[in-house]
Amino acid sequence: MADETFYRILFVALYALFFSIRGYYRFAKPKRDAPEIVHERKKFGKAEGVISFVILGFFGTVILYLLNQTWFAWSQISNYPEFIRWIGVLLALSSVPLLWWIHKTLDRQYSPCLQIKDSHLLITEGPYSRVRHPMYTVLNMFSFGVSLVTANFLIIGFALMVIISFPFVARKEEQMLLETFGEEYSEYMKRTGRFFPRIRKT
Ligand code: SAH
Repeated sequence: MADETFYRILFVALYALFFSIRGYYRFAKPKRDAPEIVHERKKFGKAEGVISFVILGFFGTVILYLLNQTWFAWSQISNYPEFIRWIGVLLALSSVPLLWWIHKTLDRQYSPCLQIKDSHLLITEGPYSRVRHPMYTVLNMFSFGVSLVTANFLIIGFALMVIISFPFVARKEEQMLLETFGEEYSEYMKRTGRFFPRIRKT
């Protein structure tokens, strides 16, 4: 069985891979494009507060895991099946090309906080043709995947809490998009699932 150092290195490598794509679309690309004019920005409310708190907890425990603090060892799960770590690796790895596809499709409509830009287009193609929040699904898939690699129950717990808190942000985002695109968005809602494709009745 590989030792914990190996999984720590694997954990960092997965993060580096995922965030090279995320970082490009979050920082490098907007810098190269023309400056954006924001039409409407949603205030930082309860939903964002909850999610920020949980994400901070997640990263806090991740740092403790990576620093290999002996006093933090109590949260490592003993006799953790190795195949679960590899399911985590698989989940995290498969989220990388998906994230790239999603960012490429959403293009300049993407923003780290909820906002409507000038000449904001409603995207309904590619990953958005069946799912309204594919990026949130993939972010959760990644963080849950890497949490499984750590075999640390606090990190897995925080990853699950992140999953639970995303619907609140999604709901608020949908309200904003409904106000902006009206009928077009409500029609789009009818034919898509929120986080997973809708199972069509035949
Ligand atoms: N919730 C989406 C997008 C996350 S980025 C997802 O998980 O894939 C957040 C920004 O995307 C928001 O500010 C919102 O204005 C924009 N957005 C979300 N869905 C959109 C869509 N179908 N078309 C255009 N913009 C969208």
